[in-house]
Amino acid sequence: MTLSSSVPHNADSDIAANLAEVRARIAAAARAAGRDPRDVTLVAVGKTFGAEHMLPALDAGHRTFGENRVQEAEDKWPALRARFPDLRLHLIGPLQSNKARKAVEIFDVVETVDRPKLAGALARIMAETGRRPDCFIQVNTGAEDRKAGILPEDADAFIARCRDEFRLPVTGLMCIPPVDEEPAMHFQLLAEIARRNGLPHLSMGMSADFEIAVQFGATHVRVGSAIFGARAAPTP
Ligand SMILES: *Cc1c(COP(=O)(O)O)cnc(C)c1O
Repeated sequence: MTLSSSVPHNADSDIAANLAEVRARIAAAARAAGRDPRDVTLVAVGKTFGAEHMLPALDAGHRTFGENRVQEAEDKWPALRARFPDLRLHLIGPLQSNKARKAVEIFDVVETVDRPKLAGALARIMAETGRRPDCFIQVNTGAEDRKAGILPEDADAFIARCRDEFRLPVTGLMCIPPVDEEPAMHFQLLAEIARRNGLPHLSMGMSADFEIAVQFGATHVRVGSAIFGARAAPTP
C-alpha cells in the first residue's frame, strides 16, 4: 500500500481532529450530491489499533466503528461497550462459519454475508440466541478471484435466498472495489443492485475514495487510516 503525504500519523491528539475533518468532508460531498449529510454514517475502522486509540473518538462522541477480525473485536470492544453502551460495531472483514456465533454476539451489523453456508449458520444462531444483527451482503463487484463477496450476476438470487429461505435481516450491500480500478463504476453497480432489490443501505468508500462513494449514494463509509493514521502492516 502506498501512503500519500496527507495520511496523518496516529498521535491520539490527532484522532478527534481527523474525525472532525472526515465528517466535514463527508458533509460537503453529501451536499454537493444533493444529499442530507445525516444520511451518511461514518464507520470508523479501528483495526490494528488498540482500545486506547478508540477512546479519543468515543470521547468526541463518535459511536459507529468497524473491525475486520472477530478475534480482534472480541479483545478490544466488550470493555469499551460497557462504558459506551450505545456504540455500534460493524464486522467488515471475511467471516468464517465457525466464528459466526461470536460475530452474532459482538457485532450489531455483519457487512460480509456472501455465501449460503454462512447465511445458514447466521440464521441458525440468530434463531437460537434471539440476537439479530443487521446483515449486509458483500458483492465482489470486480469479480476478483481472491476477494470475498457474491458475484454481481448471482447477487439478486442470493439476496432473495437470504431473505426468503434464511430469513436474515438483510438491509444493505457492501463492496470493496479492486485497488487498481476507478471505484466509481463499482459504486454505481452496487447502488443499482441495491435499488432493484429494495435495499436501503450501501456500505462503500474508504479513506481514499469515500467522497466518490457518497456521490454514488453510500449510506455507510468505512474510513480507517484517515482517522487513526497509517497502519503498521497491511491487513487482508
Ligand atoms: C481496512 C478496511 C477499511 C478502511 O480502510 P482505510 O483505507 O484505512 O480507510 C475499509 N473497509 C474494509 C473492508 C477494510 O478492511
